[in-house]
Amino acid sequence: METDKLTYQQLMAENEELRFRLEEANDTIEAIRHGQIDALIVKNGDEHQLYTLKTADQTYRVFIEKMNEGAVTLNHDGTILYSNSRFATMVNEPLEKVIGLKFSVFVPEVSHGKFNELINDGWKNDCKGEMLLTSRDFKLTPCLVSCTTLDLDEGTALSLILTDLTVQKETEWELKVKNDQLEDAQEAAERLNNQLEDTVRIRTADLLISREHFKLLANNIPQMTWTNLPGGEVDFYNQRWFDYTGRRYGETAGWGWQQVVHPDDLQKTLDAYITSLQTGKIFELENRYRRWDNTYRWHLNRAVPLRDDTGEIIFWVGTATDIEEQKKQLDLKDEFIGIASHELKTPLTSLKGYLQLMGVYKREEVPQQIKQYVEKASGALNKLQRLVNDLLDVSKIQAGRLEYMLSEVNLVKLVNSSIENAAHMYHDFEFANTTQGEIYIEGNAERLEQVIMNFINNSVKYSTDNKKIIIKAEVVNDVARVSVTDFGIGLSAEQIDRIFERFYRVEDKKFMASGLGMGLYISAEIISNHNGKIGVESELGKGATFYFEMPVLKK
Ligand code: ADP
Repeated sequence: METDKLTYQQLMAENEELRFRLEEANDTIEAIRHGQIDALIVKNGDEHQLYTLKTADQTYRVFIEKMNEGAVTLNHDGTILYSNSRFATMVNEPLEKVIGLKFSVFVPEVSHGKFNELINDGWKNDCKGEMLLTSRDFKLTPCLVSCTTLDLDEGTALSLILTDLTVQKETEWELKVKNDQLEDAQEAAERLNNQLEDTVRIRTADLLISREHFKLLANNIPQMTWTNLPGGEVDFYNQRWFDYTGRRYGETAGWGWQQVVHPDDLQKTLDAYITSLQTGKIFELENRYRRWDNTYRWHLNRAVPLRDDTGEIIFWVGTATDIEEQKKQLDLKDEFIGIASHELKTPLTSLKGYLQLMGVYKREEVPQQIKQYVEKASGALNKLQRLVNDLLDVSKIQAGRLEYMLSEVNLVKLVNSSIENAAHMYHDFEFANTTQGEIYIEGNAERLEQVIMNFINNSVKYSTDNKKIIIKAEVVNDVARVSVTDFGIGLSAEQIDRIFERFYRVEDKKFMASGLGMGLYISAEIISNHNGKIGVESELGKGATFYFEMPVLKK
């Protein structure tokens, strides 16, 4: 039998079967011994035959001989009076040799105690017990021994019925091994489970702590905060959002936040939001959110993506900061700048007039020194006037009132006159002009000249070492392009991003030039009013090319 290939369940079943058969056999023997059975039906081929026990001594004998258990009778000193052939097989001796021997010959030393106990008990009562049997060639056989006394004609004898437990013990052993293995496996699984549980507990605690940290932080900062999924759906707001909007989670979760964005700001908000989701670039935008009392307040939104190890965006964290007060202050400042520059304009104009009068004074000879003072005062006044004009322009742009007439403009002429102007102002600079022919566009000559002069002034200001400036007006693919190139300090990519913002100036401790950061802001506004494009190509330390482009006027 290939017991090592049997499964645990098969072994269990086989063990159960053996036990059942053993019990059945024992019960049968018990019943025969106690005279409870009068007859036996024995299967004989296909037929059944009835044997009457009381009347058939011979039949008993045959039965005892054929049974699967060893059967012996002993006298008081342990000598074997009778043995069936099965017992002789169990001890590996010829039957005739067995009878007359002391039974103890077949009991190994380890079982002596048990055997004596059984025999002693057996003479008094029926009893059972397990012990080992040994053959002459030292093969040990585990047996179940049932003892009972028999009243024979010759006197009382002790009958032993021995059931070979080898297969059962092997099965039990197999079972035990399998059981032990099972227990080991169970223990290992339990250990693993405990470890897993510990890890999960620690991780859950970590997660809880970090989530609580995040919540605590999110609910206690003055900003409104949200997180959104890579697809754009918002899945978390902090308490401030609910306090401000007066809405419940379900109302503004997902894409529901659109309801509280000012209708005038919604399109630009969606555009910027979707662009950020698609590109993974930081979302930054000012817009107005409706408060619970139906008033709108300006907010600065900023959302950054959180990425996993592979660079995939997991979610976005966004904040909306209330900038209503700053906006109001800015408006007040703009208003003040507007009024102040307007008020300055009139006295400056009259100052300029008087200086011009002084410059042409002829009635008596004016000392040379005074003439020089008047010239310097005029120069300073011109600067002041430009500054005041810029301030006025900025406040007009803010109020949406930078208005002017458009007409046909010859760009080539405009560029040439700007270069003349510049050459007059900056004697030590060399202006290279490669412009030829005629280029017409629709625009405002005065404002476009303002842009070109701003480019040239900046080139002069930011390239003190190299005195060459190239100015070009050209047509590329039906687009007119005016560019001013210098070889000065140049700009970094980060600076380029912000250069057209209002009041933006590069903070460079090494290079200080006067200015308020208004020129390019005004220029950008003018070009955008012309439906054109303004831009810069530059590298830090390698100069810059500022340009604008607009459609050519077809004639
Ligand atoms: P500003 O009056 O400060 O020159 P602008 O709006 O004209 O104001 O320019 C904004 C900033 O852009 C400047 O402060 C300067 O840092 C930078 N910039 C402008 N033109 C150039 C240039 N040609 N080369 C290097 N930096 C420049």
